Amino acid sequence: MRRKLAAGNWKMNGTGDALAELTALLTAQPDPSCDVLVCLPATLLHRAAEAVRGRYLKIGAQDCHAAASGAHTGDISAAMLIDAGASHVILGHSERRADHGETDAQVRAKAGAAQAAGMTPIVCVGETLSQREAARALDVIAEQLSGSLPDDARFVVAYEPVWAIGTGKVATLDQIAEIHAHMRRLLTARYGDAGQPVPLLYGGSVKAANAAEIFAVPDVDGALVGGASLKAADFAPIVAALSAQ
Ligand code: PEP
Repeated sequence: MRRKLAAGNWKMNGTGDALAELTALLTAQPDPSCDVLVCLPATLLHRAAEAVRGRYLKIGAQDCHAAASGAHTGDISAAMLIDAGASHVILGHSERRADHGETDAQVRAKAGAAQAAGMTPIVCVGETLSQREAARALDVIAEQLSGSLPDDARFVVAYEPVWAIGTGKVATLDQIAEIHAHMRRLLTARYGDAGQPVPLLYGGSVKAANAAEIFAVPDVDGALVGGASLKAADFAPIVAALSAQ
């Protein structure tokens, strides 16, 4: 039985005051039947972990370095993120692939480093609009999974079509179903039974109004949520929709 996961991605948003949203989420959803994770800026990790200590809410990061330590000014290792209270780390988000030129090979190296340190990587893949219009979405996803995933199947995959992130444009249910079935087949081909527990998340303008229908799509095990994870009032109904599945 695969665990369902509602994951938030705060991106580069939030200072200490925003942590009140985490406690508000715990109040609004005191006992969900799915896993819930919020991936925060590194500066908030430790305070967030303290704020939710002893509760179900997991704390995650948004990137890590592939090396365990060393001369990498400004970077943060997986062990440091764990030390700050993170259990998960988003890797290969399209914003990092675009802003920092991250390649599949780098994402794979980071995922291996995160696993070696004891964290669960959330590896993001997704096609651009021009790739979809050229009917290349399935091939792009296959290439990204092949190049970005580590050999050890203890990870989460997030399918986030680049054109749907932060745009208000949501992939159709048929598009989501096609890509998720494709990803599940590819994971089974590569990892066999070990790949079965891997949760497949959809990401791209998920909100309270569309969450339930997306969660009902076969092979969708949850969501990676950007904008609608910043406020408990927006994220709690998404958690509730997944919990109700
Ligand atoms: C994201 O940042 O991963 C994301 C899916 O953003 P949004 O929900 O705002 O589209």
